[in-house]
Amino acid sequence: MTDLSTDAATRADKFIAIDGPAGSGKSSVSKEIARRLGYGYLDTGAAYRALAWFVLEGGADTADADAVRTAASGFPLNQRLDPDDRRVLVGDVEVTDAIREPRVSAAVSGVARVPEVRVQVNDMFRRIVAEADYPAVIVEGRDITTVVAPDAPVRILLTAAPEVRAARRAAELAGENAAAVAEAMHKRDASDSGVVDFLNAAPGVEVVDTTELDFMQTIDAVLAVIERRRDAERKPEHG
Ligand code: C5P
Repeated sequence: MTDLSTDAATRADKFIAIDGPAGSGKSSVSKEIARRLGYGYLDTGAAYRALAWFVLEGGADTADADAVRTAASGFPLNQRLDPDDRRVLVGDVEVTDAIREPRVSAAVSGVARVPEVRVQVNDMFRRIVAEADYPAVIVEGRDITTVVAPDAPVRILLTAAPEVRAARRAAELAGENAAAVAEAMHKRDASDSGVVDFLNAAPGVEVVDTTELDFMQTIDAVLAVIERRRDAERKPEHG
């Protein structure tokens, strides 16, 4: 397991933490914000998905916590921070598309449920951000604002009404049955929310509700939060 060195632990300042459930728009929004600000982009869900893929590839089931722990102990993940390079590799195998398949989406909560694995991947995320060749990294997931980087200067929870989220997910997965997509999404949300609470904002986390917002409006809203938070950080305490 990676050692959580002091250096990595003290680079919370490089995090822009964005959490939210499936279909809240967090991936596309995070990528666009990273492009505009010249920052890195880290999709933590992709790492969990790649690990689920790795477990399945080894012939195991993600409901088997021991199999998940074993896979995580030798997990050769290669994920980039460039928002325009969304390739994900496990060893030499490119899994960019495979990790979005319904069989992986259905299996990923099993991986996310193993506490030791969460500790390990969280250390990995902190190290990736600390070593990143970017002034800051937009890190999106479920527990970034609360567990991975609770001291980040900017912490945002993106939300949207469940029916809006289901419609967006179905549009992303064109060709799949909309009702089945919605059902799979709600099932995953229910399972995930038993592990971390990503439906309610922790103290100090700004909520951006995207139910009534289109993509550009969401970008503007998130950029406004980033700017406001940064201004607040810059102001001297007694000024
Ligand atoms: O964001 P995405 O839907 O791709 O995430 C896939 C899965 O990874 C989630 O359903 C959840 O089980 C897990 N996850 C997590 N913590 C994170 C990010 C993702 O448990 N920070």
